[in-house]
Amino acid sequence: MRRVASAAVPLAASLLALLACANASRPVTDAERTLVDLTHAFDAHTVYWPTEEGFVHERGFAGRTDGGYWYEAHRFRAAEHGGTHLDAPVHFAEGRATADAIALERLVGPAVVIDVAEACAADRDHAVGVAELEAWERAHGAIPEAAIVLLRTGFARFWPDRARYLGTAERGAGAVAKLRFPGLGADAARWLVARRVRAVGIDTASIDPGTSARFEAHQVLGAADVPVFENLAALERLPARGFEVVALPMKIGGGSGGPLRAIAIVPPRRP
Ligand SMILES: [Zn+2]
Repeated sequence: MRRVASAAVPLAASLLALLACANASRPVTDAERTLVDLTHAFDAHTVYWPTEEGFVHERGFAGRTDGGYWYEAHRFRAAEHGGTHLDAPVHFAEGRATADAIALERLVGPAVVIDVAEACAADRDHAVGVAELEAWERAHGAIPEAAIVLLRTGFARFWPDRARYLGTAERGAGAVAKLRFPGLGADAARWLVARRVRAVGIDTASIDPGTSARFEAHQVLGAADVPVFENLAALERLPARGFEVVALPMKIGGGSGGPLRAIAIVPPRRP
């Protein structure tokens, strides 16, 4: 037995090496699916809340070292809430999950896009209502169990023009009252919680409309442990349903949110 086993190991190893070579030579494109980046880049233009400094990327070192090799490394600092980011449930709900405590199952799953761009183009203060969610279901079928629901307001087309995206380019505490962009209404947030959604995302700076003073959608979703993704990009590239989202935030211990890399995995369209 022993001799057979010892002879089998090198054979298995060389087969594995052969397979690894075959994999390495395969192109990285994948005809079976399309990966869509739902994330805005973090740079000097990234939109943050008017009270925040923004994304600061400090130049460290980039150049040829004395050792003859290239070396490049910089540093950054930023608020948790800015750019494409996560709102952990604790953001507006005391005692709920922090960024590091959110179950991975909440961040990866089947997703739908609810397109409300027309209503938001007509009224930049639009609050998405239950009637629109119900209309989507009549057109596309029931929202699947434990779905990630993405709201497409169309406002990502204004990014990173602060005046058009946020409603004001002013900064500081006084600018908050001038914010004007669409969001999710409180009743619609409750309706989504009743549907046991996995997470909710939007292509604006906040899940509540800019004019909101009480942040009810944040409160309702947070209390139900539903994570929120804000400032999403490229939702226009997604079908209404039949795809998956992977939204992995920086795992900040005790964080109320954090920078998020979100992607969609879209299968090929069946003829
Ligand atoms: Zn946030």
